Amino acid sequence: MLLHLDTDELRQRARAAFVGMAIGDALGATVEFMTPSEIAAQYGVFREIIGGGWLRLKPGQVTDDTEMALCIARAVVKTRGWSREAIAREFAAWLKSRPVDCGDTCRKGIRSFMLHGTLEVPYNEWDGGNGAVMRMLPPALLSFPDGELLRNYALEQARLTHHQAQSDAGCLCIGSMLHLILQGASKNRLRKEVDALVADHQQFGFDPYRKLATAYVADTLATVFHHFFRGRDFEECLVGTVNQGGDADTTGAICGMLAGGYYGIDAIPKRWLKKLDRRLLSELEQLADYLVDASPAGH
Ligand code: MN
Ligand code: MN
Repeated sequence: MLLHLDTDELRQRARAAFVGMAIGDALGATVEFMTPSEIAAQYGVFREIIGGGWLRLKPGQVTDDTEMALCIARAVVKTRGWSREAIAREFAAWLKSRPVDCGDTCRKGIRSFMLHGTLEVPYNEWDGGNGAVMRMLPPALLSFPDGELLRNYALEQARLTHHQAQSDAGCLCIGSMLHLILQGASKNRLRKEVDALVADHQQFGFDPYRKLATAYVADTLATVFHHFFRGRDFEECLVGTVNQGGDADTTGAICGMLAGGYYGIDAIPKRWLKKLDRRLLSELEQLADYLVDASPAGH
C-alpha cells in the first residue's frame, strides 16, 4: 500500500501538520468575519500573527479549531485508544471551561451529550458547517494508513456534533488527503482526491473559484483547495487563504494542516512559529508523535 515509509519522515510530517493547523488558526483569527476588501483596506496583504480580531486574542492565541482537535488527541492519550465517549467527555469539559469561542452546531452537539449522553446527533440538512472537518487531523493520524479505520474514526468524531452529507464528505476527503500527504503524495495526486469529491458533491467545486469563505463546509474547503493548490510554499498557501476573510481561522487551520504536512516544519516561517506559546507547541508535537506511534503504521 505504501510506496515508502520512513518513520522519521512520518513523524515530521505529522508534527508539521499539527503545528501548521495551530498557526493557520492563530493567523486567520485576526481577520475572521472580515471581507477581503476590509482586510485589504486595513492591512494591504495580511501576513502577520498579531492577535486581536473580534475575539480580542493575544498574538499566537488559538481558538476552538485547534482546541477541539486537541480534545480528540488528549482523549486518545488518556484512554490509550479511540473512544468517542472519551472524546465527548473531553469536548464537554472544554465547553465548561468557557472557551474563547465555539460554533453553534458544536455547542448544540456537546450540550446534547451533556444532557442525554448523545454520541451521534440526528441527521440535519442544515448542519453543514465546517466544525467536524476542522478536527480531522487526530483521527487521520491515529488511523494511518488504514482507509477503513480512517472512515470509522472520521465519522464517529464528526457525528458527536455534525450529521450532514457535505460535512461527512468533507471529513472523509480531508482525511484521505492527510493520509496521502503523510505518504509524501504530490499535489497532482491530491488534486485527484478533490476532483473525486467534486464529482460526487459539486458544492465543493473551486475551479472557477467563487471567493466564498463562509463556515459552510463546501465554501470553506473550496477556499482551502483554491489556495492550497495555487500556493508555492506554506506561507503563500496560508496568506492566500486567510486574506479571503470569512471563517478565516478555520480555513487557515485546515489549510495549515494540509500545507504543514505537505511542506514540512522547516517551511513554516520562523516569525510565525515564535508567536505560538511554547507549551502549546511542545504539546502539539508530543500529541502528533503519540498518534503516529499508536497508529497501524507505528506498530
Ligand atoms: Mn475558531
Ligand atoms: Mn472559525
